[in-house]
Amino acid sequence: MSSPCARVRRVGLFGGTHGNELSGVLLVRHWQQDGAEIQRPGVEVKPFLTNPRAVERCTSRPVVEDIPYEVRRAQEINHIFGPKGSDDAYDLIFDLHNTTSNMGGTIILENSRDDFTIQMVHYIKNALAPEPCPVLLIEHPSLKYATTRSVAKHPVGVEVGPQPQGVARADVLDKMRKIVKHGLDFVQLFNEGKEFPPCTIEVFKIMEKVDYPRNKNGEITAIIHPKLQDQDWQPLKNGDPLFLTLDGEVVPYQGNCTVYPTFINEAAYYEKKQAFVKTEKIKLTAKHLRLSVSEQSTS
Ligand SMILES: [Zn+2]
Repeated sequence: MSSPCARVRRVGLFGGTHGNELSGVLLVRHWQQDGAEIQRPGVEVKPFLTNPRAVERCTSRPVVEDIPYEVRRAQEINHIFGPKGSDDAYDLIFDLHNTTSNMGGTIILENSRDDFTIQMVHYIKNALAPEPCPVLLIEHPSLKYATTRSVAKHPVGVEVGPQPQGVARADVLDKMRKIVKHGLDFVQLFNEGKEFPPCTIEVFKIMEKVDYPRNKNGEITAIIHPKLQDQDWQPLKNGDPLFLTLDGEVVPYQGNCTVYPTFINEAAYYEKKQAFVKTEKIKLTAKHLRLSVSEQSTS
């Protein structure tokens, strides 16, 4: 692996990993036509539709006859943007997603010890303030996330909602666009040799997935309680309502610590048996960051 202080040369912007999440699809297509706003000096920025077949069908999941295609596509992505774990891999990938949950403009991190990415997120959060920019850390010993973007040295997910599947909302698209813009600005400043002092960011670390109450046949018997709906990132305490059965019975949260639910009522997660995910608030710290001196003399 190259040093964390090496110049950023190549950045991928992924859209359409899930074909019905339209902000990323539309932005990537736009940037392929006119990339002026994503160009930065000395950096190759590549907008890329990761799953054109899913985009065509406007779906989030592979159709059975498409599985060989999806496997081939993953190999192609690894060939173009990887190979994963090698020096040749892209430095940074922003993977653009939408959610039906009220998550706002969220950044998803996979690694709690990646100083470069933590510094970048710190920069993006400051640039967006007072608009909140929650950060979800999906590093977890048993919940395995195999993301396409993880071929890059620094993989970053961008998850913006609420937006229905197959729909494009201007406010949601704008939030996504700003996160990418500030991320690329950070890359430019870093490449110019700007020094970033040590920093700390607050993140929501994934704890576990919570399913809907179900009957013996596996059918859902309760839905998200109205008091939990749209309350992503808000504290959930023992006794707070979680679900509402069709009989009107409230199913409360039982737990001795306060948690922060997110991905509440995400449409794509019904089939994954997930009503929301529980997170805990933690802090991540990054060391001082600066392009190495030897890199500053080259261009
Ligand atoms: Zn998605």
